[in-house]
Amino acid sequence: MEPKLKARLRRQVTSRREELAGLLQSLVRIPSFTGEEGPIVSFVLEKMKSLGFAEARADGLGNAVGRIGTGPLTILYDAHLDTVRVTDPEQWEHPPFEGRIVDGALHGRGAVDEKAAMAGFLVAGAALAKAFPRGDLPFSLYIVGSVMEEDADGFPLLYLMEKEGLKPDYVLLGEPTDLKVYRGQRGRLELEISTEGQAAHGAHNRQGVNAIYKMAPLLRAIEKLDRALPKAAPLGRGSVTVSDIGSRGPSLCSVPDRCRIHIDRRLTAGETKEGALAQLRELADKHGGAKVELPVYTAKSWKGTEVRQEAYFPTWVMEEDALLVQAGMEAAHLATGRKPRGGVWSFSTNGVATAGHHGIPTIGFAPGKEELAHTSREVIQLADLAKAALFYALFPFVLAERAGSR
Ligand SMILES: [Zn+2]
Repeated sequence: MEPKLKARLRRQVTSRREELAGLLQSLVRIPSFTGEEGPIVSFVLEKMKSLGFAEARADGLGNAVGRIGTGPLTILYDAHLDTVRVTDPEQWEHPPFEGRIVDGALHGRGAVDEKAAMAGFLVAGAALAKAFPRGDLPFSLYIVGSVMEEDADGFPLLYLMEKEGLKPDYVLLGEPTDLKVYRGQRGRLELEISTEGQAAHGAHNRQGVNAIYKMAPLLRAIEKLDRALPKAAPLGRGSVTVSDIGSRGPSLCSVPDRCRIHIDRRLTAGETKEGALAQLRELADKHGGAKVELPVYTAKSWKGTEVRQEAYFPTWVMEEDALLVQAGMEAAHLATGRKPRGGVWSFSTNGVATAGHHGIPTIGFAPGKEELAHTSREVIQLADLAKAALFYALFPFVLAERAGSR
């Protein structure tokens, strides 16, 4: 990357350090639980406009979509704006919606997952808009504040790609990576399994067929299956967990005629929906014939748009020597001054849509520790946030350079 441009962007981002911390604070102060993101989307769109973005609008679902530059290479930065709820306010050392700064670190719900990334994107965007007021960049950088991610990972970007026709060449996710370059995640599949019996009075129980007893051997078999699932680097082992159980009968003094369990199935590299389904159907057939189904998640976005998604989130992993991963490593080196490190997420991200469903090269880079997400201890080191913002400003040039010299 050209040294003069690099120095100019570095100066631009560094001079906005206060603004960067203030932006994260403002974002944390606007509660944005899944399905209630309207106010934070408005805030982000207003900021995009005032910071010089060429375009800023809410799409049909309610995602905030901004753009800088008009170049042929299309890059999409995504940070979901929704957060999980706060159910335990008394467990927070610092109030969850204050964005309190203590010893150079900002605390609050969503600070890690993943409002810090959006604050960094906005400052990087402002630096690019300032350095290139005519937008004559070698790329078009779309900055997306997605909604509904916590309940329907992938759906907001599927909407953007399939309903709005925005198909980027490359994607960068702002899920926490602690300033490492992440290149994949295990996939996920949810399943409902049910057995049918025959109801009878508890006093005449032998006249009935107990659906819970019919389920019992299958439960044992699933526990055994979990221990036999394969391991694959770098994502680790697949897993299967019975996460819920319920039954139905005429009363508590009756033989139940229905039992159902819910399954959380994590898929490692090489495991697919079809494979995992076939595996459980085979087990179910062997142990008394239960029905295995894929549940469908439904909800409404803050804009009132129907969300409907099969509970399948495909595994994805990028090769270590892929162009995008290499560009990420180079930009991370420039932004942090340290030898860059790689990794993968343990949890699921919007990458299930971009890389998993659509095969678009995707990586992640952001401040914050993944294991603090969804906890009452969410905290971001502001020095790390500043490094991330610099990364977000430099990365598209590094990527455009590498993509152009292919
Ligand atoms: Zn997240």
